[in-house]
Amino acid sequence: AKNSPFRSVAWFTPEMETRVRERLGGIRALREGFEQQEFVLHYQPQWDLEQGLVTGVEALLRWPRADGSSVSPAEFIPLAEQSGLIVRMGLWVIEQACRQLVQLCEAGHEGVRISVNVSMLQFRNAGLVDSVRTLINEYRIAPGQLTLEITESVVMDEPKLVLTTLGSLSEMGVRISLDDFGMGFSSLAYLRQMPLHELKIDKSFVQDMDSPQGVAVIESIIQLTSRLQLDCIAEGVETDSQQAKLRQLGCHRAQGFLHAAAMPSDRLLAYLS
Ligand code: C2E
Ligand code: CA
Ligand code: CA
Ligand code: CA
Repeated sequence: AKNSPFRSVAWFTPEMETRVRERLGGIRALREGFEQQEFVLHYQPQWDLEQGLVTGVEALLRWPRADGSSVSPAEFIPLAEQSGLIVRMGLWVIEQACRQLVQLCEAGHEGVRISVNVSMLQFRNAGLVDSVRTLINEYRIAPGQLTLEITESVVMDEPKLVLTTLGSLSEMGVRISLDDFGMGFSSLAYLRQMPLHELKIDKSFVQDMDSPQGVAVIESIIQLTSRLQLDCIAEGVETDSQQAKLRQLGCHRAQGFLHAAAMPSDRLLAYLS
């Protein structure tokens, strides 16, 4: 009812008009920025603590401003979703990731995977599976080098469609990671049916580890991944003690500021060497 058009009409205040104008302006700017190829991907290392190696990176979109700062994806991804631009933008992200994989291989880092975030609307668009297949063939990358990160809300949005699509992607050899695990509600029922390879512990749980209850939550997530034979990775790891605790509980892959924030491609190559 919150988004009911009738309610909006009844309560359409000048402030709301301003907000709508701002949103439309934001969407226009976003489209223009995308056409002008202003977006870049940054990559955040994912460490395997047992091996002491970077085994993957997560691709994160950045929209740089002229002054060197950048617009947060938390701001523009929702606009990209509302406007539908996310479908083209998301495809661009996957293609960039494929290019980056080729570059990593050429530099001798064929053991490094790339994880890409995928939105709900990309799943609703029928072309996703074919687009991914085309890109993998075109860039001749091993499908297992590519991981798609989806959130629980994507699955819950249209379980049947998403499960079928995930099935096709998984058959192709692409890895699937469930992002922000624990932030949704009813995904446990689908967890068993989903062709998943990895479960990602949300940073809010990692940051909550100084309480015994917080530890208990993480511990049960880690146990669940091990029982379901899924890989486990913790995001938002910022301190040594968080990392030590995670290892002790059996999660030996970590991503977070403790190691590095997301960085541009050239810095990633330097980081890996
Ligand atoms: P996410 O997928 O949960 O990504 C993790 C976010 O946590 C990233 O924020 C990352 O920079 C941040 N982070 C990493 N390590 C730490 C840490 O140690 N502490 C804290 N506090 N934060 C950390 P970012 O880059 O601002 O992205 C925000 C969200 O925007 C992402 O959340 C994702 O949902 C979305 N996003 C980013 N890139 C894309 C994209 O290409 N496609 C789609 N659909 N969504 C994207
Ligand atoms: Ca993610
Ligand atoms: Ca996440
Ligand atoms: Ca998150």
